[in-house]
Amino acid sequence: MLKINHTICPKCSIGCGINLISNDGFIVGINPFKNHEINEGKNCKNCIDYINKLSENTIKAFDYTKTIEDIKEKINTIDNDKITIITSGNCDDKTLDSIIDFTKQNKYNLLTYEYNFSKIDSEILSTYDEIEKAEQIITIGDIYRNNSLIARRIIHAQQNNAQTINIHTENNLTGYNSDEFIKIDSYDTIDEVIKSIGLKDNSIIIINQIDTNENYEKVIGLVNDNNIKLLPLLKHPNSYSSLQKINPSSVDEINTTISNSELIIFINENPCEYLDEKVLENKDVISFTEDDTSLGLSVPIRLWCQDEMSFTNSMGTTQTYPDAIQDDDNNLKTVTQILELI
Ligand code: SF4
Repeated sequence: MLKINHTICPKCSIGCGINLISNDGFIVGINPFKNHEINEGKNCKNCIDYINKLSENTIKAFDYTKTIEDIKEKINTIDNDKITIITSGNCDDKTLDSIIDFTKQNKYNLLTYEYNFSKIDSEILSTYDEIEKAEQIITIGDIYRNNSLIARRIIHAQQNNAQTINIHTENNLTGYNSDEFIKIDSYDTIDEVIKSIGLKDNSIIIINQIDTNENYEKVIGLVNDNNIKLLPLLKHPNSYSSLQKINPSSVDEINTTISNSELIIFINENPCEYLDEKVLENKDVISFTEDDTSLGLSVPIRLWCQDEMSFTNSMGTTQTYPDAIQDDDNNLKTVTQILELI
């Protein structure tokens, strides 16, 4: 049976609404969620491509019995401090909480990589509406390419005469569409570059890319010193919550912990973008995955939209939606259910 229900796009941290269309429990597409206050029915290519990928998924039943037994057996043969769980803001709040409890109870290592971003004070965080009223918008990274529903707000700000400046290490779409483009060789002097622009009272810095947490902290320091606002556009739909709950690691820290571990369990995280797969050689690897990362023993989990879920977006707003598919024939388990069985 064809169903259309509200949920949140899982492809980045902006928190755009989607109307998810499913047929007999399988995703078949999306339809504009016109009343959604963030995106008013519009969705970007990243969202559409991901939904199209999910529409190729034909799994809704899995026999967990042997897999769970195998995982339990493996875990029992390895010292707890040699077991590392790596998760991400792809998990909703309930799932993150159950992962944190599980790792604490068992004294496993718990890591996340949030692309060098870290938790910031809510007082300096810009809302999406504030973008349209800003006098000056400084973008770091390619916002137009990666977060186009925020780019739409920047265009509205330009129509309201905001000055726009893009800073990036390479030519990019956002730079092309800004009043000024500043090409830098390295982010090490990012604070000096921003200062040289001449900040206005009502300035907002929007950032979706930085090479180290140290350089991100320089941006935060500058925002605090100048009493302006910052909007970090985080990688995953629930990265904001992930940063509140788990202290993120750098790639080097993750590499070191992996090299000291015997078993690595990825939970709703595909590390291929930032980890050299060689670091996983000779390690036991298990992946609890929504869309099969093909890393080690792959254990399917329910999609974000197949359970009540809550994601907190980049401006700190939590959105909760019920199961958007409602398919009684789907026996896939949530991460929480799997952890309870291990
Ligand atoms: S901007 Fe992000 S949340 Fe919005 S539709 Fe695109 S990928 Fe999804």
